[in-house]
Amino acid sequence: MERALEATVPKYVYVFGRGHADGSAGARKLLGGKGANLAEMTNLGIPVPPGFTITTDVCRQHLMSHAMPDGVEEAVAVALERLEGFTGKRFGDDGDPLLVSVRSGAAVSMPGMMDTILNLGLTDRSVEGLARVSGDERFAWDSYRRFLQMYGEVVLGIDHRLFEWRLTKHREEAGVHQDSELAAAHLREIVGEYRKVIANHDAAPFPDDPRGQLWGAIHAVFESWRTPRAIAYRKAYGIPHDLGTAVNVQAMVYGNRGPSSGTGVAFTRNPATGEKQLYGEFLVNAQGEDVVSGTRDPLSIDEMGEHLPEAAEQLFDTAARLEAHYREMQDLEFTVEDGRLYLLQTRTGKRTARAAVRIAVEMADEGVIERHEAVLRVAPERLEEVLHPTVDPSAEFTPLAVGNPASPGAATGRLVLSAREAIEAKAAGEPCILVREETSPDDFEGMVAAEAIVTCRGGRSSHAAVVARGMGKCCVVGTKALRIDEKAGLIRANERTVKRGDWLTVDGASGEIIPGRIATIQPEPDEHFERLMSWADDVRRLRVRANADTPADATTARRLGAEGIGLCRTEHMFAGEERIDTMREMILGRSAEDRQRALERLLPMQRDDFVGIFRAMDGLPVTIRLLDPPLHEFLPDDEEEISRLAEATGRPAEDVHADVDRMHEANPMLGNRGCRLAFERPDLTRMQTRAILEAALIVQAEGGDPRPEIMIPLVGHVAELENQRALVIETARHVFDERSARIDFGIGTMIELPRACLTAGQIAGPAEFFSFGTNDLTQTTLGISRDDSGSFLPAYVDAGIYAEDPFQRIDRDGVGRLMRIAVEEGRAARPDLKIGICGEHGGDPESVRLCEELRLDYVSCSPFRVPVARLAGAHAILVARGADGADSTTLA
Ligand code: PEP
Ligand code: MG
Repeated sequence: MERALEATVPKYVYVFGRGHADGSAGARKLLGGKGANLAEMTNLGIPVPPGFTITTDVCRQHLMSHAMPDGVEEAVAVALERLEGFTGKRFGDDGDPLLVSVRSGAAVSMPGMMDTILNLGLTDRSVEGLARVSGDERFAWDSYRRFLQMYGEVVLGIDHRLFEWRLTKHREEAGVHQDSELAAAHLREIVGEYRKVIANHDAAPFPDDPRGQLWGAIHAVFESWRTPRAIAYRKAYGIPHDLGTAVNVQAMVYGNRGPSSGTGVAFTRNPATGEKQLYGEFLVNAQGEDVVSGTRDPLSIDEMGEHLPEAAEQLFDTAARLEAHYREMQDLEFTVEDGRLYLLQTRTGKRTARAAVRIAVEMADEGVIERHEAVLRVAPERLEEVLHPTVDPSAEFTPLAVGNPASPGAATGRLVLSAREAIEAKAAGEPCILVREETSPDDFEGMVAAEAIVTCRGGRSSHAAVVARGMGKCCVVGTKALRIDEKAGLIRANERTVKRGDWLTVDGASGEIIPGRIATIQPEPDEHFERLMSWADDVRRLRVRANADTPADATTARRLGAEGIGLCRTEHMFAGEERIDTMREMILGRSAEDRQRALERLLPMQRDDFVGIFRAMDGLPVTIRLLDPPLHEFLPDDEEEISRLAEATGRPAEDVHADVDRMHEANPMLGNRGCRLAFERPDLTRMQTRAILEAALIVQAEGGDPRPEIMIPLVGHVAELENQRALVIETARHVFDERSARIDFGIGTMIELPRACLTAGQIAGPAEFFSFGTNDLTQTTLGISRDDSGSFLPAYVDAGIYAEDPFQRIDRDGVGRLMRIAVEEGRAARPDLKIGICGEHGGDPESVRLCEELRLDYVSCSPFRVPVARLAGAHAILVARGADGADSTTLA
């Protein structure tokens, strides 16, 4: 019969059991991650309850037409028959029923986002049969009440609280704390009440026929693909919406069969630190949802041996075997039924960035993977997390409460008590800390919006912990002392309170919840991080520089591996009261002499800054850009400041006002700025050139090795660059003559206007280097204001008009094409032209890849993104080389 079906319809259902599976790990797209790995484990001979997987193809067709494709029902019937053969039980048998679990499983793991139903197949009749054959009435009624609750919630859409409060009421009446302590008679009563809840609900009735239950569950799992929370999760992680989920139907094994049974989750390495140790939690006499829901306090996996010794030993062996087989850290789900271990799932484990680095490095050291694979195992964008802030160890405070540290980092924000409040706070630009009893997938968007997440209940594999770790967000769970009083809008612990909207600090490393705003500090990179980076550096071709405007930033950047400064924005040096006043005098001075005097006062200030930067970047190139913004940006815009300036310059306030108004531009970004302003005010170029070269000579005289490069902004026409270049050279001659010393320096230009790209062959004549200013180049190519795009561009990205925000990731087809023209024509005119990028895109891994394709010489980005760019540069080479990046000539 199966053969006949295969001949007419695609294969919709894949069976696994008795040591053989139709599928394998390679069929992930079709079977989802869970289904593919259940098949793989079956083929490896690992104990997995038998079952079958309905493919993602079926889901996609179901979502389109709301109906099952022809042939699926027959294929499921055949698979059920085989499952009955494997287990020796019949589905729908009242005497000794075959029960199944129905679980979702997409190609990309989305933990907790979709639905699971356990113990499916029970009815008012077969529950009695189960009690008889198992000889355990309590177990049978416990299984039934769980099934009714899950079916009610997932398939019939009934609010889970309607079930939970009844369960709580019975626990209280029975005077017990745990569900597992409820006796059969209680559970029987609860089942009666649950049946009433379902009957009184206006959803579809509860099917007393197991086949009806099965199809209800299959439909519900497919539909769970498009719940708002699943859509939000996919958006956050860039998962395509058209993948669909598979459905896994598996014979039940029971963790709730008494003290020699249990269920748990385990990681083959610590997902927070990366340490090589089996890490996880389990519960005796429980079913899967008890562990992840956080409603009972699980035991650590280290204690499993005391309770379930044989199964624990088997689990440790199986975990090691699975990790070796997949060559990757695994996240396992298991159940022990009467002392026998079964694996219910294995998948690549989510981990913090710090753990990702350590695991990759140690696996390479262990010889499990090659070094280049270790480099590829860490996503560059996650490296910033490794440099997570921590609470300043010298800060003094008394924590409000201490919970379990579940995801590292430290964060400060205002207390919010619901996902909605978190979303609102984020929209208002307020950092917030989300505190919840426990989180559910419905809280996901609020968790994205919050700086940190704290829960009162739940272990380290609870929903909050898993999701926060995946996002690299600081998280503390199971803070038992903490009480939430939603009505009063506060949290309370140890006789202290923090009100909604008050500041709160969370330490994800120690688990401390601290009232107020506590200082945080940046950590030093650890040994594993340094080694991974050095392996990446061995492969990387692109140089990585930093955008840094101060000696402190330059020092940080160098510590993080920067190989020079790609952009020093000199305008940032005019901040601070004394400097801004002098700058304003320079701008508004009545006579040339007034303006010159102000400039002369600015000169030593700039020179001192450059001295500090050259010292920090000794021996490395430092590209300093001459003044770029319109002068209007330096002028005051409120009355109080205008009066202060009038007083400082001894001029009537109306005059100052009139000057400020006169300098206002309708479109300043396209106005008198960059080299245009420098053309009008050559004294500015002279002063800045002098400050740069005098600073370089000072550092050189100290025995240092300063390497200045002077960069002209906003050039669109070669004549603009020629004009500025002449000024720089003339000033350099004066400085060198005056000081009877000289120093080598370069002169180059920003390439940030389309005309500069299109005439790059001409511009390369007077330019020794190009640096793509992709912020302005994006603005001028797309005609989208970089300052105003926030109000409309996100909607474009949501709608897919631009797949990504073009200010974060280079728009390949437009801006990328102009860059290509500029590189080709620039290098054709001047083969030794050095080319880099200093727009924000220089720290975006995907944009770094484009820069590698264009064979730029360097990228430059903010100091904390330097490691990201270093790793992204290596990835760009390895990915271009082929699927696994292998090249035995480069890496051992
Ligand atoms: C740019 O335009 O990309 C750039 C680096 O300069 P700024 O952001 O200072 O305009
Ligand atoms: Mg610019």
